[in-house]
Amino acid sequence: MAQAITTDPDTGLKIFNTRAAQASDKIRGRGYGVVQDESLKTLPDAPAGAVFNAEEQARYRDFKEARAGAGEYVALEGEFSKYLEDVYSEAPVPRDVLTDECEILVIGAGFAGLMLWYKLRQAGFRDVRFCEKGGDVGGTWYWNRYPGIACDVESYSYLPLLDETGYVPTMKFASGFEIFEYCQLIAEKFGFYDKCLFHTTVEKTQWDASAGRWQVETDRGDKMKARFVIVANGILTTPKLAKIEGMETFKGEAFHTSRWNYNVDLEGKRVGIIGTGATAVQVIPEIAKVVDELYVFQRTPSSIDVRAQRETTSEEIETWKNEPGWSTARRKRFGRIASVRDAVKADDDYLSGRVEDYRKKPKESKKLSPEEWMQQQLDENFQAMEQIRARVDTVVADSNTAAALKPYYPYACKRPTFHDEYLPTFNLPHVHLVDTAPRGVNRINENGVVQDGVEYPLDVLIYATGFQWMATSTFDMIYGEDGQSLTEVRKKNGTKTWLGLHSRGFPNLFVMTGPQGGGGSFNFTDTIDDHSDYIIWVLKTLQEQGADIVDVKPEAVEAYAQHCREVDLATAPLRDCVAYYDHEGQAEPGSLVYYGGGRWHKQRVAGQESLEPYVFSGSSAS
Ligand code: NDP
Repeated sequence: MAQAITTDPDTGLKIFNTRAAQASDKIRGRGYGVVQDESLKTLPDAPAGAVFNAEEQARYRDFKEARAGAGEYVALEGEFSKYLEDVYSEAPVPRDVLTDECEILVIGAGFAGLMLWYKLRQAGFRDVRFCEKGGDVGGTWYWNRYPGIACDVESYSYLPLLDETGYVPTMKFASGFEIFEYCQLIAEKFGFYDKCLFHTTVEKTQWDASAGRWQVETDRGDKMKARFVIVANGILTTPKLAKIEGMETFKGEAFHTSRWNYNVDLEGKRVGIIGTGATAVQVIPEIAKVVDELYVFQRTPSSIDVRAQRETTSEEIETWKNEPGWSTARRKRFGRIASVRDAVKADDDYLSGRVEDYRKKPKESKKLSPEEWMQQQLDENFQAMEQIRARVDTVVADSNTAAALKPYYPYACKRPTFHDEYLPTFNLPHVHLVDTAPRGVNRINENGVVQDGVEYPLDVLIYATGFQWMATSTFDMIYGEDGQSLTEVRKKNGTKTWLGLHSRGFPNLFVMTGPQGGGGSFNFTDTIDDHSDYIIWVLKTLQEQGADIVDVKPEAVEAYAQHCREVDLATAPLRDCVAYYDHEGQAEPGSLVYYGGGRWHKQRVAGQESLEPYVFSGSSAS
């Protein structure tokens, strides 16, 4: 067997061979297929005369208020820690403990880690090391392998490095299994595997000011030093379980969607699924095809928009073969789409460059006041939601079920979803929607779920209850120059960053795609692209400045945090519902997602030109 750690005689750098083998050949699947029925691929018109009047506004308000405070979750510790186990890979590859030093240590080997490595390598940085909790690359696409999984941002704009690999996704919305394999292809092509310590979780990262280095400890006993640490472990990383009385007593099989247990054969079983977010919307139509009885426990319905999945055409494959840079150009066009709905609907004519504008009829050019603009947004949003609600009535036969499946909140307030098979699934005789609104499932016993005095006996219970949003436990274990963790500092002072990437007192640390980290569009891949370029700019600027430590000034983080707050508040009426995006209403405005759109770039460019936000210093190490 090849050694897990060797040394390159030319560079003196370590070469790793720690990628774990797949645990079982049962782990396979596909996304969602092409639906032939054209009527399922179009939205009906909004009912005539529908306007967002006081009555409709009150209905939205009631819908929200009834759910306020319902989102209680349990920590995945103790007996619930089993829901975090890696079910996809064989045991970790044995290796020696590392106590050496590298220049750049990156946490995470998902899209962000892969993109970053490609760019660092291009820029000449080689002394780079990745630590990854999973047994292989992929991040989200490593952990999420549930039946029906596919990306919701069109794959031609979403998959990173398509121009560089020459790969063309097989579907407009590629399956998660295809995306996972594509991540492996990137890693193989660009030498990523040599750089990555798999099954290695960073447990503590402490800034040592006297050495000008981070000290990084892992669950494999490593105690490494690194000049720079880059956090690239995603925004929806840690699964969460709804807090439900008696959940530990259930005697059947139970798992979370992000640890799908393929050893449990669902065929012929009574299966329950809790949650109806973006994950469940993809899972439900697939498992309904094999299970005996399916109980869907819904607290809040998702908006189910048209998907219109299709295969990549042979004409596209031919065209793109002869069009270098086609994917980057397409992604740029995608990034210019201002509305979330237009973006995810991904108009091919616009994205391929055949037409100039993605909007069917261009907007009037009259300058609107902020109030007029907001009213226009709310009205358009309401019309879209009316169409989505009308679709439910058109497709779902039972009127009670249809009523329960209709969402009453602004479009994109909760994560919008897209599917052409989800709603028809509720017409199948063995699929039952159990409406647990507004407080959700609150009791489980050894047989199954008990709701409103009715017991639903189950063989298998699936938690589709989501993830912690922008609050990975990683932030708890990064200790800055005054010995406090990033979480502690943020609790005390509020979240204050520069561009989301730097936090004052945490020198040489970069957080990719974290709180306040804007840049890209609705497309995560755009953001990691922008953040990778930015980090490389900082590393090169340090070299130019003859410095090796970078921190940011207090006034820079104060001003940026204030800006984040303002852009959040200015757009808040469009997000007036209970959603994980603002931690169910608990988050301070401006402390999580960045809502300023292209203004992030303006801030970035101004900072890069003036160098005003930065404090550069030499290392006292040598
Ligand atoms: P979500 O957080 O979106 O959904 C969790 C679900 O669990 C919600 O429907 C929630 O209801 C429900 N829930 C929680 N507690 C209870 C309870 N006690 N009783 C009943 N229901 C309960 O998680 P997902 O995994 O669906 O999605 C997370 C994110 O991952 C998405 O928003 C998206 O960003 C990403 N994703 C992307 C995909 C893609 O690109 N293809 C596919 C899947 C996921 P409530 O709404 O009332 O809180």
